[in-house]
Amino acid sequence: MTRTLITDTVSRVGETVLVKGWVNTRRDHGQIVFIDLRDRTGLLQIVTRPELAEGLHAEDVIYVVGTVAKRPEKLINPKLPTGTVEVQAEKVELISKSAELPFDMGSPTLNLELPTLLDHRSLTLRHPKVQTIFQVQASLVENFRQAAKGIGCIEIFPPTISTSATEGGADVLPVDYFGHSAFLVQSPQLYKQMLVGVFERVFIITHVYRAEPSVTTRHLVESIQMDCEIGFIDSFSELLDAMETVFSQTIENTQNQFEVQPSLVTNKIPRLTMREAQKIIQDRTGVDHTKEPDLMPEDEREICAWAKETHQSDLVTITHFPTRKRAFYSLPDPDNPEYSLSYDLLYKGLEISSGAQRIHDLDQLKQTIIDRGMDPAGFAMYLQAFEYGMPPHGGFSFGLERSTMKLLDLGNIREASLFPRDTERVDFRLS
Ligand code: ATP
Ligand code: MG
Repeated sequence: MTRTLITDTVSRVGETVLVKGWVNTRRDHGQIVFIDLRDRTGLLQIVTRPELAEGLHAEDVIYVVGTVAKRPEKLINPKLPTGTVEVQAEKVELISKSAELPFDMGSPTLNLELPTLLDHRSLTLRHPKVQTIFQVQASLVENFRQAAKGIGCIEIFPPTISTSATEGGADVLPVDYFGHSAFLVQSPQLYKQMLVGVFERVFIITHVYRAEPSVTTRHLVESIQMDCEIGFIDSFSELLDAMETVFSQTIENTQNQFEVQPSLVTNKIPRLTMREAQKIIQDRTGVDHTKEPDLMPEDEREICAWAKETHQSDLVTITHFPTRKRAFYSLPDPDNPEYSLSYDLLYKGLEISSGAQRIHDLDQLKQTIIDRGMDPAGFAMYLQAFEYGMPPHGGFSFGLERSTMKLLDLGNIREASLFPRDTERVDFRLS
């Protein structure tokens, strides 16, 4: 008999089917045992007798042959896609026995402390609520890919081992490369710019590595970045349009596919310069950050609160960060070079994306590298692209885990990473 997937049982009422999966929960009611069976498509109620279910408990892998029956009206479970049916088991075969679980996984909300959730990751990832996080994440990636293609980008796969540290050397993870010193890339930045010289428009979904020493709820050591870089731009606002369009489409298409609290996405995302934002924050809170060279985490939260209240938007774009606070390749504003043609997109109180128009003139780029105390020789392959003709260009980078975390209103970025790496943990606690 061929296998029937759980969600397909709804259309097989009256038929005998073979379903396969894990015991999600077991409930005993005298001579009747209810098993919620879980496969990749969802949950299904199995009704059986104690003899057939002897010794079965959560996470056992079983194959069940039985008849699909309509549930009586008052027993319909509106919360389950299969809530109108159940399978009356005739045969239950145990395929793989699970060890006793270290905690109860039966509750729909899975109320575990974060360390427990991560110490038992292979197990806790199986919980339907946790699975949903990564189904949403997969959908974010797919929708980002569609949106990036929609603005004409081709997908590229740059290396993640490099000998030049993108942002100048701090917080990099070193690699012993056959006796030579190398690094894991902090971003695909240099490669995506080089590839603008080939394809005009590129996008990337890749792992990046940052030895961030601080422990926060929004930083991982290894994370996934979704980047676009586009050439032949005519204006700075074209870049902002591209970033906002790509992210809005990614979020909207993803939230349409899941039952999540929809984010407020407008087609006119408010835009402020960093200085304008600081002024608004000062007016709202009385706290003066107008001389600070960057937005602080509490500023990001406050300006997002402003955007929500005044523009009904969960997104706000901030532009013109001080040139010295941004990476060397960011283009200074020709009208006021103290500030750069850079931007961040903030989403529900957190930076979700950064980008900038880039320097595309070779001499200016070399001089900037020197002015920042670095050696152009260390960037030889990168600079080669600019020797042979480079159009005006710019781009942006989204953090995948941060996007997932904010879309789902999770409290900690670690919940949005399958096996999060931080200073204290690589699968297991380091100390
Ligand atoms: P922050 O100021 O919040 O530390 P950043 O400005 O250093 O972030 P960028 O270099 O702009 O980060 O990286 C682009 C995007 O990648 C960020 O907007 C964010 O969404 C994500 N990101 C950056 N660092 C991390 C990290 N350590 N862990 C997870 N995601 C990150
Ligand atoms: Mg940034």
